[in-house]
Amino acid sequence: MQTLKGMFDIIDERPYYALIRKTIESVAAQFHVKKIETPLLEATELFHRGLGDGSDVVRKETYTFEDRGKRLITLRPEGTASVVRSYIEHKLYALPQTDQSFYYEGPMFRYERPQKGRFRQFYSAGFERFGSASPAADLEVIQMAHKVVTQLGLEVTVEINSLGTARKNEYIDALKAHLKPHLKELCPDCQARFETNPLRMLDCKIDLENSAFLSAPAPEAFLSQEEAVHFEAVKNGLSHLKIPFIVNPKLVRGLDYYTQTVFELKVSESLLGQQNTVCGGGRYDLLVKELGGPDVPAVGFGFGLERLVVALKALDKEVKDLSLDVYIVVLGPVFNEALAVATLLREAGFSVKVHPQEAPLKTQFKQVEHEKAHFALIIGEEEIKSHVYPLKDQVHGGEQKVQADQLIHVLSSHGDAHAK
Ligand SMILES: [Zn+2]
Ligand SMILES: [Zn+2]
Repeated sequence: MQTLKGMFDIIDERPYYALIRKTIESVAAQFHVKKIETPLLEATELFHRGLGDGSDVVRKETYTFEDRGKRLITLRPEGTASVVRSYIEHKLYALPQTDQSFYYEGPMFRYERPQKGRFRQFYSAGFERFGSASPAADLEVIQMAHKVVTQLGLEVTVEINSLGTARKNEYIDALKAHLKPHLKELCPDCQARFETNPLRMLDCKIDLENSAFLSAPAPEAFLSQEEAVHFEAVKNGLSHLKIPFIVNPKLVRGLDYYTQTVFELKVSESLLGQQNTVCGGGRYDLLVKELGGPDVPAVGFGFGLERLVVALKALDKEVKDLSLDVYIVVLGPVFNEALAVATLLREAGFSVKVHPQEAPLKTQFKQVEHEKAHFALIIGEEEIKSHVYPLKDQVHGGEQKVQADQLIHVLSSHGDAHAK
């Protein structure tokens, strides 16, 4: 038996995932953002209305099927639509707190052709902020994204753009009118997207240097006065926060729901090659209403955890696995006593493993080494009688005899042991 195509088990890379999740959690706490957990399965219609019928995701990448009750359901391909559904369903917009933020983390599913760094079950995290149309909300959201990635030790470039809202369709029409005469020169993907999702054509890596693209109209020309002021405020704010950024007029993001500010965080190509975007987001001021809620502006972003893992590995960042404080080596049938000592140490906050059966010392110390335990504690009948245990420091060297009632004190006062 094997995993399904495009799916994977997380075993060796677990410490990287743990580090990323911990970092997201700590940044969320700094900004007082609460976690939200939504089901993996949703009504198919949610994603059609949320992501747009023309998006690649909805057209050809969802896991959609009929359940036994003949309902059309979809495994979530991304996180935002579910969070917005939840926000509306529970009438969170009616709470006295008008500015609310949530973050999510978990598996997403897309039926894509598996390739390097692309999987059919993958892990995303994201932040969504509801209730404020102010550029300050955009700024803090970009700041959070930036903080997560830099706190992981990765250097990033922030790219931003504004798609506008009021005249977004006018811009799309102008773009189509400009590209139409050149359609034959462009790749098959671009030709398909011309009808279904024309903004995405600007993402094309194949036609990057085509003159039709280079001379294409920029969305900035289609911003209303108010939107232009908003975009200026975001740029100013980023400078104030000392977050370096560049304006990329071709940055559009793949999903229909974005309005006004969009942004991406990119790491060096030396870490991830051309697919170096680790985070993307923006405003989606119309989505809450589109999905049946009131007119509530929103802004957010999402991360793919796999790309971050690859980047961290390329960076050669040392990520520590869970560490083991104490391995108890047993001499003879002393399990009740050994488990009692282990229980005391665990209650004091140490991680402890007990060798589960009698075995030669050499065999047990092999396991101590494999587990990279900080200390080996030896318990035999003699030790139990005398209440004195040999304690070996496997990391820093040295062995001492410790009185049973001094054990926690000795371990705690040792500099880097994991005392509570
Ligand atoms: Zn193309
Ligand atoms: Zn030590």
